[in-house]
Amino acid sequence: MKFTPETYVIPDEPMKPFIDAEEIWNYINHTVSSSERVHEVIAKSLAKQRLNLEEVAVLVNTNNPELIEEIKEGARTLKRTIYGNRIVLFAPLYIGNYCSNNCIYCGFRTSNSKAIRKTLTDDEIISEVTALEDDGQKRLILVYGEYPQYSPEFIAHTVKLAYSVKKGNGEIRRVNINAAPLDIDGFRTVKTAGIGTYQIFQETYHPEAYKTYHLSGRKTDYAYRLTALDRAQEAGIDDVGIGALFGLYDWRFEVLGLVRHANHLEACYNVGPHTISFPRVKDASMLNINQDYFVSDNNFAKLVAILRLAVPYTGMILTAREPAQLRNEIFQFGVSQIDGGTKIELGSYSEKTETGAHLDKGQFQINDGRPLNDIIDELLEQGLLPSFCTACYRLGRTGEHFMEFSVPGFIKRYCTPNAILTLAEYLTDYAPENTARKGWQVIDDTIEKMDNEPMQTAVRERIEKIKEGKRDLYF
Ligand code: SAM
Ligand code: SF4
Repeated sequence: MKFTPETYVIPDEPMKPFIDAEEIWNYINHTVSSSERVHEVIAKSLAKQRLNLEEVAVLVNTNNPELIEEIKEGARTLKRTIYGNRIVLFAPLYIGNYCSNNCIYCGFRTSNSKAIRKTLTDDEIISEVTALEDDGQKRLILVYGEYPQYSPEFIAHTVKLAYSVKKGNGEIRRVNINAAPLDIDGFRTVKTAGIGTYQIFQETYHPEAYKTYHLSGRKTDYAYRLTALDRAQEAGIDDVGIGALFGLYDWRFEVLGLVRHANHLEACYNVGPHTISFPRVKDASMLNINQDYFVSDNNFAKLVAILRLAVPYTGMILTAREPAQLRNEIFQFGVSQIDGGTKIELGSYSEKTETGAHLDKGQFQINDGRPLNDIIDELLEQGLLPSFCTACYRLGRTGEHFMEFSVPGFIKRYCTPNAILTLAEYLTDYAPENTARKGWQVIDDTIEKMDNEPMQTAVRERIEKIKEGKRDLYF
């Protein structure tokens, strides 16, 4: 079967591509954003219902500062009441930056002769993973350029290698992927390596704008990329991540595009994306692009809050592309995953080099180079619960079975206790005294607030086991 945007439609709607630029612009141009409508839409979201495109258009069209504050407050409330206080941590690991594509925003583009290219050898991957484990990391996302050498077999090999590195209490328990779109057989191959999420960003959902940024190579094919995660689903990968690169086109259009993509996956496969990412374009080696669509910090905070309200069941990822201060504010809008201790230059975890020192070695500039422990410290200061949990994926609670936010009590029953146990491991094995003190306090407070006595007892018992040396305990 050949997959095109026309192949997949939103059921119960007339046959049409699931991304229709004219339709999206119609919603943006013809939706009036009265305060009454904004209140109705926020209330619908707080009742944990996904928003449709017209409702998202109401929010993106809001310019009244008081209403924008209410949207942000809605996102904060949704986070507090539905998601609890945990935030999952991971680190990116760049495996190779050779690339045959020419995406003009990216430091790895084939035309960038200044880029310093490298593919990690097996030994180098082992050194990088060891360095990440020594920091306390348990979850990685492996990242690759699009290049013939980075075949599905190669990707599968590198994933297995990352899982195989174990030293002391160090181990990687979940490996996600950010790589080029594959065909169905390719997705099947990487699935056999035991990947977590397969993440692909559409970059821009606007087909005409897309053409102007992707000048040569396989990635020029908008439709092949748009339907990639449909092929992943066909291949049995039911844990997928979508994203848009903000700054390439009108941010309001991209927000509606992301919501439509999420709704499409949910309508066709009964499972929406596990995560949504919303990177903003950052400086990169020899970058020279039009800044007309760059998104201000204010609009960025607003769009994150809108996405939170639009897809209440979907995880949201905020990366170290954004500066520390802005990240600290946006954590409170219901972001569920962040990276910490991030280094994106190839080989830099084991070389212990300062990140950001050499733009030609990385894909783009990151702006939050804090070590993992500093990020954990910040989360604890904010009363948030850092988590390295990988339980659902390892127990097969993915896809349709991964009801995280729709099953009442799921967070209380699984996510919070597992966050506590993985944090307890981190505090025991890696944290300096000051962080450990704060961390145990947050753990005590969180257990205290649980309204389920048997669960409180079970968590306390497991913590004792961790103190005695047991690892990898989860519910
Ligand atoms: N080569 C694969 C692909 O294009 O799908 C892997 C993706 S790339 C290594 C990860 C993501 O980084 C891209 O999908 C893009 O959204 C983002 N990115 C590229 N250049 C960027 C820049 N200058 N600033 C911020 N993010 C950027
Ligand atoms: Fe290559 Fe991906 Fe960068 Fe495009 S975004 S140049 S495909 S690494």
